[in-house]
Amino acid sequence: MITTDVIIVGAGPSGLFAVFQLGLLKLRCHLVDYLGQPGGQLSEIYPKKPIYDIPGYPSVSAQELVDQLLEQAQPFKPAFTLGERVEGLNKIGGRDFIVTTNLGTSIQAGAIVIAGGLGCFEPRKPAVLNLEQFENGKGIHYVITDPDAFTGKNILIAGGGDSALDWTLYLYKYASHLTLVHRSETFKANPDSVSKVLQLAEEKKITVLLHSQVIEASGKNHLEQVRVENINTEDKFAIEVSEFIPLFGLSPKLGPLAHWNLNLHKNAIEVNPANCATSIPGIYAIGDINNYENKLKLILCGFHEAAMMSHAVYKYLFPENKYTMKYTTVNGIQSF
Ligand code: FAD
Repeated sequence: MITTDVIIVGAGPSGLFAVFQLGLLKLRCHLVDYLGQPGGQLSEIYPKKPIYDIPGYPSVSAQELVDQLLEQAQPFKPAFTLGERVEGLNKIGGRDFIVTTNLGTSIQAGAIVIAGGLGCFEPRKPAVLNLEQFENGKGIHYVITDPDAFTGKNILIAGGGDSALDWTLYLYKYASHLTLVHRSETFKANPDSVSKVLQLAEEKKITVLLHSQVIEASGKNHLEQVRVENINTEDKFAIEVSEFIPLFGLSPKLGPLAHWNLNLHKNAIEVNPANCATSIPGIYAIGDINNYENKLKLILCGFHEAAMMSHAVYKYLFPENKYTMKYTTVNGIQSF
């Protein structure tokens, strides 16, 4: 069992800045995110896009902002559980909560901050026969959390976007062989990545199959083979692979948090805008996932809410303590 002061569900910009704000109040945080890396929408959807409305940054790329938030949080040594989805919620001993993930990790804390953005990004799954049979560690991966695990493996990646091409360029060096399968002839990805992938194919360092799709997975206890169909000719053929990585994007869903008995408004969690408290004492919600009158889904607002929420969490956890806010210019950063 992991224990901490505050569990943060979601490591997007709101969750990362909450680590800093809670850290100033000497509260330790453990973040859980379903994605394989921190950064939420910024790292997953638009890492290279410039953002123009962050105070003090006339322009900053989304990934650079995430990197800066991680650096800013570093003195408070946040712990991360990545690639796992928070699902269960239990209350023990009158005050503490225990949350559990889809992979069985349990974390105990006195307060929970939900910074889940648009919800859990669920992979868009392709229509492949027997797909479910090889999920959960048996050869089919929608999220790559440990690239080292692919060393020496025969890999097939399906998709034509940035994610599929970026992972192709990264993993081919470690794979025994890598095949990229794409339905179309054109890619919806960074032109530089496209030309690098096509160059590797020309040099026969990888195989690229265009106008093609995977239609069936097979094997005994683990994936051994996929069948691929050429969409134009309808020819079908088998390829021996042990790892199949379908990368067709992610769609957000509130998912298991919707069953925590919190007051909801459409797909968002109702909070008191004065402190971001939800309808359950000890559980707070910040960033895109919360709702109140005139809510704006902006990074800037998530930052403000992180500060408001942190003071409320402190008061909730230590009602007997008298706390006076101190400027960082006065107190500096007292790292853990
Ligand atoms: P998110 O960034 O969505 O992060 C939430 C995280 O929680 C995700 O990583 C998710 O995996 C995780 N999560 C959810 N549920 C669970 C669970 N049950 N278990 C584990 N993990 C979970 N905003 C601006 O201010 N300026 C801009 O210029 C701007 N441009 C944008 C451009 C694009 C293309 C898009 C899509 C958005 C843009 N936004 C912009 C909006 C901005 O990205 C969001 O406001 C911001 O990401 C919200 O941050 P967040 O931390 O609240 O949530």
